[in-house]
Amino acid sequence: MKGGNDKKMLLENKVGMIFGVANKRSIAWACATAAASQGARMAFTYQADRIKENVSELAHTLNDSLVVPCDVSEQAQVDAAFDAVKQKYGRLDFLVHSIAFAPREALEGEFVATTRDAFRTALEISAFSLTQVAMAAAPLMTEGGSIVTMSYYGAEKVVINYNVMGVAKAALEASTRYLASDLGKDNIRVNAISAGPINTLSARGVKNMGALLGYVGQRSPLKRNVTAAEVGNTALFLVSDLSSGITGETIYVDCGYNIMGI
Ligand code: NDP
Repeated sequence: MKGGNDKKMLLENKVGMIFGVANKRSIAWACATAAASQGARMAFTYQADRIKENVSELAHTLNDSLVVPCDVSEQAQVDAAFDAVKQKYGRLDFLVHSIAFAPREALEGEFVATTRDAFRTALEISAFSLTQVAMAAAPLMTEGGSIVTMSYYGAEKVVINYNVMGVAKAALEASTRYLASDLGKDNIRVNAISAGPINTLSARGVKNMGALLGYVGQRSPLKRNVTAAEVGNTALFLVSDLSSGITGETIYVDCGYNIMGI
């Protein structure tokens, strides 16, 4: 038996890939710092050149990181990003998918006015991209793996102004279950976190986000809003072996808001 001081970290020798760091407030960054605190090495993707510097600065505060471009609407960029991960690390153990997009005008007013283009864009970037990255990640997850995505309550109930993003999140949660069913035979788990509202760049694209934060903060059982760090810790649990028996689930990390009726 070993002595007490050499406790193994949860993600020692594990390699991850993180999609969706825009800045230090991003939920993806909270997931990355939680994973790094338990020994993970990670690759980070960024969508546009305008945030390359931001992401690189953050990523380089962590041990042995990689930063690669990846706009999920460009399949060639997705392929190149996974090639770069394969070259640097040789394999992948976990992936955090924390990206979403819908045109701003679709995130206010009535859902019934959603255009075909807005619908297609929201569903492609926010839902299909999970399948797209799971397909690319699976062959690299040679020792099993864990994929985590970010959803929201608007998938399940109507949240005013969330509109087409709610429909995209419903598709994302369903995709999580289908992917979990397909990839389970390779010991690859796929789960979603349904996070309560958090004041990030994307969240500010939803009209009246401030009011929503106030409303949820007052009515949740814990009488406050959730923090990105709390979501990050749940992602750490889901990508670690502590959650080895969990797949296909949507786990609420919302200070309990979703359980409330009247
Ligand atoms: P951020 O704005 O920090 O992160 C969103 C990320 O999505 C950005 O890095 C953005 O890149 C990226 N993205 C958008 N379009 C594309 C694309 N075509 N290809 C690749 N990346 C793209 O916001 P959050 O951290 O809040 O969002 C992360 C996830 O969490 C999202 O799925 C969101 O819906 C979900 N979520 C957020 C909640 C909240 O209240 N904040 C609550 C529940 C879920 P870029 O900046 O370059 O556009």
